[in-house]
Amino acid sequence: MREDNCIFCKLANGEIPSATIYEDEDFRVFLDLNPATKGHALIVPKEHYANLFELDEELCKKVMVLAKKLGRRMKEKLGCDGLNLVQNNGEAAGQTVFHFHLHLIPRYKEDGAGISWKPGSLTPETREELLSLLAED
Ligand code: AMP
Ligand code: ZN
Repeated sequence: MREDNCIFCKLANGEIPSATIYEDEDFRVFLDLNPATKGHALIVPKEHYANLFELDEELCKKVMVLAKKLGRRMKEKLGCDGLNLVQNNGEAAGQTVFHFHLHLIPRYKEDGAGISWKPGSLTPETREELLSLLAED
Protein backbone atom coordinates (compact mmCIF):
# COMPACT_ATOMS: atom_id res chain seq x y z
CA MET A 1 0.00 0.00 0.00
CA ARG A 2 1.16 3.51 -0.81
CA GLU A 3 -0.32 6.79 0.31
CA ASP A 4 -0.93 9.52 -2.24
CA ASN A 5 0.13 12.41 -0.08
CA CYS A 6 3.13 10.80 1.56
CA ILE A 7 6.50 12.22 0.53
CA PHE A 8 8.40 9.13 1.75
CA CYS A 9 6.20 6.88 -0.42
CA LYS A 10 7.25 9.01 -3.39
CA LEU A 11 10.93 9.09 -2.39
CA ALA A 12 11.11 5.38 -1.57
CA ASN A 13 9.54 4.44 -4.89
CA GLY A 14 11.68 6.80 -6.94
CA GLU A 15 8.86 9.17 -7.97
CA ILE A 16 10.89 11.95 -6.38
CA PRO A 17 14.67 11.71 -6.79
CA SER A 18 16.75 11.19 -3.68
CA ALA A 19 20.41 10.72 -2.83
CA THR A 20 20.09 6.94 -2.68
CA ILE A 21 22.87 4.86 -1.15
CA TYR A 22 21.05 1.51 -1.18
CA GLU A 23 17.94 -0.01 -2.73
CA ASP A 24 16.33 -3.45 -2.78
CA GLU A 25 12.79 -4.76 -3.31
CA ASP A 26 11.68 -3.70 0.17
CA PHE A 27 13.65 -0.56 1.04
CA ARG A 28 15.34 2.54 -0.25
CA VAL A 29 18.03 4.20 1.84
CA PHE A 30 18.75 7.85 1.13
CA LEU A 31 20.62 10.72 2.69
CA ASP A 32 18.70 12.92 5.13
CA LEU A 33 18.17 16.45 3.80
CA ASN A 34 18.98 17.94 7.21
CA PRO A 35 21.69 15.64 8.50
CA ALA A 36 22.65 15.48 12.16
CA THR A 37 26.13 14.39 11.06
CA LYS A 38 28.00 13.62 7.84
CA GLY A 39 26.41 10.50 6.33
CA HIS A 40 23.05 10.63 8.17
CA ALA A 41 20.75 8.39 6.15
CA LEU A 42 17.22 6.99 6.38
CA ILE A 43 16.09 3.41 5.79
CA VAL A 44 12.60 3.70 4.32
CA PRO A 45 10.29 0.83 3.31
CA LYS A 46 8.73 1.10 -0.13
CA GLU A 47 5.30 0.27 1.25
CA HIS A 48 3.57 2.74 3.53
CA TYR A 49 3.57 1.97 7.25
CA ALA A 50 3.02 4.98 9.48
CA ASN A 51 5.25 3.78 12.30
CA LEU A 52 6.81 0.78 14.05
CA PHE A 53 3.47 -0.44 15.35
CA GLU A 54 2.16 -0.81 11.81
CA LEU A 55 5.35 -2.17 10.27
CA ASP A 56 5.15 -5.70 8.86
CA GLU A 57 6.95 -8.26 11.08
CA GLU A 58 9.20 -9.52 8.31
CA LEU A 59 10.27 -5.96 7.49
CA CYS A 60 10.99 -5.40 11.19
CA LYS A 61 13.58 -8.14 10.99
CA LYS A 62 14.99 -7.06 7.66
CA VAL A 63 15.39 -3.44 8.70
CA MET A 64 17.81 -4.30 11.50
CA VAL A 65 19.86 -6.60 9.29
CA LEU A 66 20.10 -3.77 6.76
CA ALA A 67 21.07 -1.26 9.46
CA LYS A 68 23.93 -3.54 10.45
CA LYS A 69 25.13 -3.88 6.87
CA LEU A 70 25.01 -0.14 6.15
CA GLY A 71 26.39 0.77 9.54
CA ARG A 72 29.38 -1.39 8.79
CA ARG A 73 29.77 0.32 5.43
CA MET A 74 29.69 3.72 7.13
CA LYS A 75 32.38 2.68 9.59
CA GLU A 76 34.56 1.44 6.78
CA LYS A 77 34.00 4.24 4.25
CA LEU A 78 33.37 7.27 6.44
CA GLY A 79 35.63 6.30 9.29
CA CYS A 80 32.94 7.13 11.84
CA ASP A 81 33.66 6.26 15.46
CA GLY A 82 30.14 5.18 16.34
CA LEU A 83 26.58 4.87 15.06
CA ASN A 84 23.21 5.87 16.45
CA LEU A 85 20.03 4.17 15.26
CA VAL A 86 17.10 6.48 15.91
CA GLN A 87 13.48 5.64 15.19
CA ASN A 88 10.71 8.00 16.23
CA ASN A 89 7.06 6.95 16.63
CA GLY A 90 4.42 9.60 17.15
CA GLU A 91 4.59 13.35 17.43
CA ALA A 92 5.41 13.13 21.15
CA ALA A 93 8.52 11.14 20.22
CA GLY A 94 9.63 13.65 17.60
CA GLN A 95 8.26 11.95 14.50
CA THR A 96 7.68 14.49 11.76
CA VAL A 97 7.25 12.23 8.72
CA PHE A 98 4.54 9.65 9.30
CA HIS A 99 5.98 6.88 7.15
CA PHE A 100 8.22 4.49 9.09
CA HIS A 101 11.93 5.24 8.81
CA LEU A 102 15.06 4.30 10.70
CA HIS A 103 17.75 6.96 11.05
CA LEU A 104 21.35 5.82 10.62
CA ILE A 105 23.48 8.50 12.20
CA PRO A 106 27.23 8.03 11.97
CA ARG A 107 28.98 9.53 14.98
CA TYR A 108 32.39 11.14 15.13
CA LYS A 109 34.32 12.05 18.24
CA GLU A 110 33.43 15.64 19.21
CA ASP A 111 30.77 15.92 16.47
CA GLY A 112 28.47 17.82 18.84
CA ALA A 113 25.31 16.12 17.53
CA GLY A 114 22.89 16.40 20.43
CA ILE A 115 21.31 12.96 20.43
CA SER A 116 20.82 12.56 24.15
CA TRP A 117 18.41 12.82 27.05
CA LYS A 118 18.64 14.04 30.62
CA PRO A 119 18.97 10.93 32.80
CA GLY A 120 16.36 10.72 35.54
CA SER A 121 16.35 8.28 38.42
CA LEU A 122 14.24 5.17 38.86
CA THR A 123 12.50 5.38 42.24
CA PRO A 124 11.49 2.16 44.02
CA GLU A 125 7.77 3.07 43.65
CA THR A 126 8.00 3.66 39.93
CA ARG A 127 10.11 0.55 39.50
CA GLU A 128 7.36 -1.55 41.13
CA GLU A 129 4.62 0.19 39.18
CA LEU A 130 6.41 -0.39 35.89
CA LEU A 131 7.17 -4.02 36.65
CA SER A 132 3.50 -4.67 37.41
CA LEU A 133 2.44 -2.92 34.21
CA LEU A 134 5.04 -4.10 31.76
CA ALA A 135 6.63 -7.36 32.83
CA GLU A 136 5.26 -10.66 31.63
CA ASP A 137 3.24 -12.63 34.20
P1 AMP B 1 11.53 12.10 11.99
O1 AMP B 1 11.60 13.39 12.77
O2 AMP B 1 12.08 10.92 12.70
O3 AMP B 1 10.15 11.90 11.42
O4 AMP B 1 12.54 12.32 10.78
C1 AMP B 1 12.19 12.84 9.54
C2 AMP B 1 13.50 13.09 8.81
O5 AMP B 1 13.22 13.17 7.44
C3 AMP B 1 14.20 14.38 9.21
O6 AMP B 1 15.51 14.08 9.68
C4 AMP B 1 14.21 15.19 7.92
O7 AMP B 1 15.39 15.94 7.79
C5 AMP B 1 14.09 14.11 6.88
N1 AMP B 1 13.48 14.53 5.63
C6 AMP B 1 12.30 15.16 5.46
N2 AMP B 1 12.04 15.34 4.13
C7 AMP B 1 13.09 14.80 3.46
C8 AMP B 1 13.43 14.66 2.09
N3 AMP B 1 12.64 15.15 1.13
N4 AMP B 1 14.59 14.04 1.76
C9 AMP B 1 15.40 13.57 2.74
N5 AMP B 1 15.14 13.67 4.05
C10 AMP B 1 14.00 14.28 4.42
ZN1 ZN C 1 4.26 6.66 2.85
